[in-house]
Amino acid sequence: MNASETAAKVRSGELKAEELVKNRILKIKELNPKLNAFLEIFEDSALAQARAVDAKSPETRGRLAGVCVALKDNILYKGHIASCASKMLENYKAPYNATVVEHLLKEDAIIIGRTNMDEFAMGSSNENSAFGPVKNPLDLERVPGGSSGGSAAAVASGMVDMALGSDTGGSIRQPAAFCGIYGIKPTYGSVSRYGLVAFASSADQIGPLTADLEDNALLLEVLSGHDAKDSTSANNPAFKPEEVKTEGLRIGIPSDFLENLNPEILAVLEAAKADLSAKGIIFEEISLPYAKYASPCYYILTSSEASSNLARFDGLRYGYKDNSAGDLEDSYLKDRAEFGPEVKRRIMLGTFSLGSAHAEDYYLKAQKVRNLIKNDFVQAFKQVDAVLMPATPNTAFKIGEKTEDLISLYLSDLYTAPANIAGVPALSFPYGKDSKGLPIGLQLYGNFFDEAKLYALAKLLEK
Ligand code: GLN
Repeated sequence: MNASETAAKVRSGELKAEELVKNRILKIKELNPKLNAFLEIFEDSALAQARAVDAKSPETRGRLAGVCVALKDNILYKGHIASCASKMLENYKAPYNATVVEHLLKEDAIIIGRTNMDEFAMGSSNENSAFGPVKNPLDLERVPGGSSGGSAAAVASGMVDMALGSDTGGSIRQPAAFCGIYGIKPTYGSVSRYGLVAFASSADQIGPLTADLEDNALLLEVLSGHDAKDSTSANNPAFKPEEVKTEGLRIGIPSDFLENLNPEILAVLEAAKADLSAKGIIFEEISLPYAKYASPCYYILTSSEASSNLARFDGLRYGYKDNSAGDLEDSYLKDRAEFGPEVKRRIMLGTFSLGSAHAEDYYLKAQKVRNLIKNDFVQAFKQVDAVLMPATPNTAFKIGEKTEDLISLYLSDLYTAPANIAGVPALSFPYGKDSKGLPIGLQLYGNFFDEAKLYALAKLLEK
């Protein structure tokens, strides 16, 4: 049963939300010691919510009635801890709801807990959490991907129906690919960032992770829409799943960007192409000449923004306070020492890139490159309706395998970062497996606010 079917049964009274939630809690308690996907189950509030949904009259129950949704630990839910998987915010309680949380509550979704992640969403493997790595439910020795790895593992293991992640350079799509599920990074500005702890504001977007394609579109519909509380929120109408006639649509394959692609992933990409061609899709060669610079551009820009966004965690405004600290400098040294090594590295890289001696060469240069990359996509979408590429350069790797090799970890974002740099939507979907039996994720990029087409095309490849 997918989430929309579950919700329909809860609305009609055939299923009780309370029963569903109790079962989910049992399942999470059984699986979580192995997976470490959840940092906390919101047992009391989830059960209270479920009882309130059951007590409503059927016609007033929402579209996600009784559906259990997990929140990535960087999304604020009033009265609950949101720690960003960091010691810095270990005990921080949200004073208000994120807009996406308001949307979920309005539709009677049950917010069941908060999921583990890379600290402050910085990472590609979920090994950067202050509370231990998440394990991939398909192979416990492997990473689930990051940074929304807890959310992906929670969905892939059947602990929850749906989960929210955030994607700054791939953090929804990459773990979706490693865990064999669906994840979308919506068009920048289509989902409110109000109440999402900022990593890099010009690239962050919240989005859905689900095991079912239809559920993904349903959740995006619930989450999206203009929000006056987010100054970067778009004025476009909210996303609505709609029928799209796919026959005759054009998909571009950017061969120049896909040089040196892992042969197993290339084979699966070719299979998807053949599958789509047989269903009336027309393929065209396209060029994305600057997309290969998205990763370096991304690391300069997002670290710069992070160095500024994370300045508020100083023990005075927000975050850990060491009471033994003497003067102001000592207090900065002691309090900000609570960040983990990756977060410190990004703050240093960002501070360096923004410094007056270097801004011209790094931050401002990266802004110019960003424009060129965006233009690649603007040009491509004059020619085609969507672009097909892999979600990741490799399948799920072993825990610890890349910790010493930062560059190779950073290159995990090769195919995902361009979407955030350009602001366009991209959907990661499972298609095929590698020789180890691990899922391969492919990705469809679309034009701004053209998510409906991506879902329609992915539907053709649904297994
Ligand atoms: N892997 C990327 C990083 O480490 C992306 C993270 C994200 O999208 N939040 O920054």
